[in-house]
Amino acid sequence: MSKRDYYEVLGVSKSASKDEIKKAYRKQALKYHPDKNPGNKEAEEKFKEAAEAYEVLSNDEKRARYDQFGHAGMNGGGFGGGFGGGGMTMEDIFSSFGDIFGDAFGGAFGSRRGGSRSRSVNKGSNLRLKVKLTLEEFAHGAEKRVKVNKYVTCNTCHGSGAASDSDVTTCTACKGTGHTTRVMNTILGQMQTTAPCNVCGGEGKVITKKCPKCYGEGITQAEEVIPLSIPAGLAPGMQLSVTGKGNAARRGGINGDLIVVIDEEPHDELIREGNDLIYNLFISIPDAILGANVEVPTIDGKVRIKIDPGTQGGKILRLRGKGLPDVNGYGKGDLLVNVNVWIPKNLSREEQKAFEQFKNSSTFVPKPDADDKGFFDRVKNYFS
Ligand SMILES: [Zn+2]
Ligand SMILES: [Zn+2]
Repeated sequence: MSKRDYYEVLGVSKSASKDEIKKAYRKQALKYHPDKNPGNKEAEEKFKEAAEAYEVLSNDEKRARYDQFGHAGMNGGGFGGGFGGGGMTMEDIFSSFGDIFGDAFGGAFGSRRGGSRSRSVNKGSNLRLKVKLTLEEFAHGAEKRVKVNKYVTCNTCHGSGAASDSDVTTCTACKGTGHTTRVMNTILGQMQTTAPCNVCGGEGKVITKKCPKCYGEGITQAEEVIPLSIPAGLAPGMQLSVTGKGNAARRGGINGDLIVVIDEEPHDELIREGNDLIYNLFISIPDAILGANVEVPTIDGKVRIKIDPGTQGGKILRLRGKGLPDVNGYGKGDLLVNVNVWIPKNLSREEQKAFEQFKNSSTFVPKPDADDKGFFDRVKNYFS
């Protein structure tokens, strides 16, 4: 991959002053900082690219060499300091340019600075939200948009909490480190204790004039529409976590997450039982005796099934693979059709007469032996 011109990366001219270069880099670093772009590989590459450009252009010797020889002057030869050739790691960047972030980000990203010293990081709280899915959505997944009322970064001060850039100063009590160190004499000798700075609250900076919109908090309340990509094969009670879509943190900290709890929208006709679906079918007495072709609903529309002549009420027909996809991706459940025979209550005189004719017919005397085993199995399964 060919490298982009360092001046182009930072968006400055060839004659830019050191101050301009530093400002341009801070701008890029703020935009592409990993805490602002969690999980975004492209932002991370841009962040690294900007750091590499700044590493070279902020150094007179390296900049002169780069101006003369371009990227070729940076590779190997012991001149590029290793950065020009191999690129910088995140650790390199935070340990080398931590102070720049300190100015630009305040306490929010302080923990990224190298070593064991750290400033407190504001973290936005998680949001929890219940989303109801239909059986169809459980089966096929869904693209949804949810509206949430939450804390977002103040768009007047962009999260800094200050009225303007010049209204943020490095805390003089802790010199921007966010903590104070005390040396105490004890019987064991001198002991050093570190505590968060109580002037700046550990943020390392002090706001002298607060943003009028958010009163210095860096966040405001707003409604946001968040797109959700729901995969197929979830089950009620499961949770999805959307990184960084929770509440924004005070003064440019790290966003909380959005936790989506999956719930079920009851279906009109089908009942879920794990990966299986159950449908309670009623057939007429003539259909049970003579056999029939009947319609049953599935999550993908109606299908026709065959009822054999002499089908007993209580029989369960299993339609393989017509259930819901397995949560772990192992195939699909079944659709269980529970067959009931509909017994009418109000017959006409003719119908009543017709049935009375069968009263003494030996054909209509129940002979349940053949189906007993199935019944006991079903009852056992039900209670197991
Ligand atoms: Zn503000
Ligand atoms: Zn302080």
